[in-house]
Amino acid sequence: MRAFTYEPPPSRVIFGRDAFDVLAVEVARLGARRVLVLSTPGRRADAELASNRLGLLSAGVFAEAAMHVPIETARAARAAAARLGADACVAIGGGSTIGLAKAIALESTLPIVAVPTTFAGSEMTAIYGLTEAGVKRTGRDPRVLPKTVLYDPALTLTLPARLAATSGMNALAHCVEALYAPDGNPVTSLLATEGIRALSRSLPRVIEDAKNIDACADALYGAWLAGMSLNATSMSLHHKLCHTLGGTFNLPHAEVHTVVLPQAVRFNREAAAVAMRTAADALGAADAALGLFDLAVRLGAPVALKDIGMPADGLDRAARLATENPYANPRPIDFAGVRDLLERAYCGVRPT
Ligand code: NAD
Repeated sequence: MRAFTYEPPPSRVIFGRDAFDVLAVEVARLGARRVLVLSTPGRRADAELASNRLGLLSAGVFAEAAMHVPIETARAARAAAARLGADACVAIGGGSTIGLAKAIALESTLPIVAVPTTFAGSEMTAIYGLTEAGVKRTGRDPRVLPKTVLYDPALTLTLPARLAATSGMNALAHCVEALYAPDGNPVTSLLATEGIRALSRSLPRVIEDAKNIDACADALYGAWLAGMSLNATSMSLHHKLCHTLGGTFNLPHAEVHTVVLPQAVRFNREAAAVAMRTAADALGAADAALGLFDLAVRLGAPVALKDIGMPADGLDRAARLATENPYANPRPIDFAGVRDLLERAYCGVRPT
């Protein structure tokens, strides 16, 4: 066995039905007395509910989180936190809301209590993103890792099917790339493999019946493992491509992941044969790329970039951007190979 270093994230995790009920206890446990509650505008009611549950511990609600954390929103949220004298943040929502809490913590070191309501996995990572003048910058910083995470499946029962499916596919992408990450180790592979198992068995059940709380709990469990896999390893071509496509062409984050993942896995199929075998077995499929593509179809999720707003004349530019800087990937990255991958993703070709 190769030598390795593994540093588990020090987050405290409360998992299960009614986990949201202990919000005030968990906030008090951190010693916080004035909490700013964050959400997107559409989920303000969740934030108000959290604020009510916090009672005197709540300093107010900031319900303006937006996809990709625009710097203007981050500045407004930081100003609100300072004005209200906040000493902690509660982020209730998906990756966008948790991302906003991270933007605040990056400058203020305020502790975050995350209450995820999608399956994207951001709550378990020290990775942040900020978008300025149309360019998304990401980084890692231990200050942005949530101190406490409350996984309550009841909060995911309202997820529209498309968002449940695509945020779950986003989580699957973290697991798959962790399996062939250059800095992966036996522990991260265990997390990633179990994450793939949990997500692939639960997501079809969630889509079939959005009110199936056991299926939602299983998907949240997979999301948790996916976030830990992402946090512990370096991502490769798939995440790089999604970052480029999302940032340059303003495509919806989770949908881009859903479309690109089977094609990126096909690209790396032979170069990461052992990881692909593990992923295929966890998916219960003969082949990882085909298993992921067929899962997306089964979930009713998009499988073609042309269907989620990608312009056909942007493929050359995307391939150029994704190949201009070197990064680790099982198969060497070249313009022609990535251009072919993007063409397949654009058309939604089954990755045989
Ligand atoms: P999101 O947070 O952007 O939410 C999408 C929409 O769903 C929003 O309008 C939101 O209000 C709504 N929503 C959220 N939960 C809901 C619920 N339970 N019921 C009904 N509606 C709900 O979606 P996401 O996919 O979770 O996050 C995407 C963002 O997260 C991207 O910006 C991505 O870069 C980031 N991300 C970051 C990491 C990380 O580790 N830093 C990991 C994964 C994703």
